[in-house]
Amino acid sequence: MTGPHPAEIDTSKPHPARMYDWYLGGKDNYPVDEAMGRQMLALDPRVPVMARVNRAFMHRSITWLAQRGVRQFLDVGTGIPTEPNLHQVAQRVAPDARVVYCDNDPIVLAHAEALLRGTDEGATRYLQADVRDPEAILEGARKVLDLDRPVALSLIALLHFVPDEDGAHELVGKLLSELPSGSYLVMTHATADFTPEESEAATAKLRAAGVTLALRSRAEFSRFFDDLELVEPGVQVPHLWHPELGDPVPGQEDGIIPGYGAVGRKP
Ligand code: SAH
Repeated sequence: MTGPHPAEIDTSKPHPARMYDWYLGGKDNYPVDEAMGRQMLALDPRVPVMARVNRAFMHRSITWLAQRGVRQFLDVGTGIPTEPNLHQVAQRVAPDARVVYCDNDPIVLAHAEALLRGTDEGATRYLQADVRDPEAILEGARKVLDLDRPVALSLIALLHFVPDEDGAHELVGKLLSELPSGSYLVMTHATADFTPEESEAATAKLRAAGVTLALRSRAEFSRFFDDLELVEPGVQVPHLWHPELGDPVPGQEDGIIPGYGAVGRKP
């Protein structure tokens, strides 16, 4: 782990943001995260490829949106900064893009200054908030974004940490209800559809370590887009969503990527 280490960072149990950083080869993780990451790899050695494929989906979907004129982005469950970050992807196409980031893990806050270095024409802001508190997110977002103009809401590899008991679908509905017509929802999500046994074992191991994993089927994932118009090619495994907009991730075709990705537009 490099950089600051505020007291709130709990190194006694694994955290999703830090495990994900470890999969991506980052340095902002602790032995407890690596140990659980290795257990996940023992169940499915393709987890690091999945993490990269997920990142690559973010690059392509945000590029696609910026190319279509979207200039405002609200990203919840941002994770530890990893270049290129979402604002860098958006501002490459549109230097005036405005981005609000949000995560509930104090380690992301500790590194957030890397999320705030953007173009002079654009703007970025970081909020520490929980997706289960959409009012706080919207209130913070309003300080940088004009919620009367379209916003892309990105929840990338986030909602499989939010179970139905916490109202995952209702939370997304609440966030979208405050965004105008022409806004977008961008999501990826892990699923047990392709690898049920490994997924069950991974869920149990994470639960025992205090991490909730709420895998969802294709139908459950698609339900997040019920009131939206799905953009072509609809719900897909993430690496098959507009592959022409980026470079393939090495190994992405060597087996199953057990996740879904999609982009939908609010009519
Ligand atoms: N979106 C990034 C990071 C995904 S890792 C990417 O796809 O590359 C999932 C992130 O969601 C972690 O950073 C974790 O801290 C965050 N997260 C998990 N539960 C959350 C919650 N209830 N509210 C806000 N963020 C949450």
